Amino acid sequence: MDLRSKIREIQDFPQEGINYKDITTLLKDKEAFKYSIDKLSEQLKDLNVDIVVGPESRGFIFGCPVAYNIGAGFVPIRKPGKLPAETIKYEYALEYGTDTLEIHKDAITKGQRVAIVDDLLATGGTVLATAKLVEQLGGEVVSMNFLIELTFLNGKNVLKNYKTSSLVQY
Ligand code: AMP
Repeated sequence: MDLRSKIREIQDFPQEGINYKDITTLLKDKEAFKYSIDKLSEQLKDLNVDIVVGPESRGFIFGCPVAYNIGAGFVPIRKPGKLPAETIKYEYALEYGTDTLEIHKDAITKGQRVAIVDDLLATGGTVLATAKLVEQLGGEVVSMNFLIELTFLNGKNVLKNYKTSSLVQY
């Protein structure tokens, strides 16, 4: 299946110079959506994953069906102020300013095997912050799986301590 042909590219969105990868065109295509979820699940099948963690919001779209498929639980990572129970936070640097992500304090227990699933790996900042949250709770990040990887941004450099894989590379 040629997944690349199902991903729409929008030039200069949300700002000039960004070539935005629009996955809504892939999601609405029943064969492409199923194929993507099956492939992501296949990459995790021998890793004994307890929990799939997905960062808001496209990490939910791919992470949830993958978790269901492999018989794991699902844990959301959210922007500040969205999760109702007690959370821990991780603040990380952006090009300008900072961003913060949160996870429920009781979402992961010590020693659980965790896979992080997201739509796209760009600089790696989001997924690294996600991994730090998981590790603060005692989880072990056994894999990071993406639909898309923008290889020219070298996100893999900041993730070199982790096993990463993607289905489509640009
Ligand atoms: P990063 O933290 O730099 O790896 O960026 C992670 C998130 O930003 C991804 O999960 C995407 O949702 C979003 N993102 C970054 N660059 C793009 C792009 N070119 N097209 C679509 N989404 C993007």
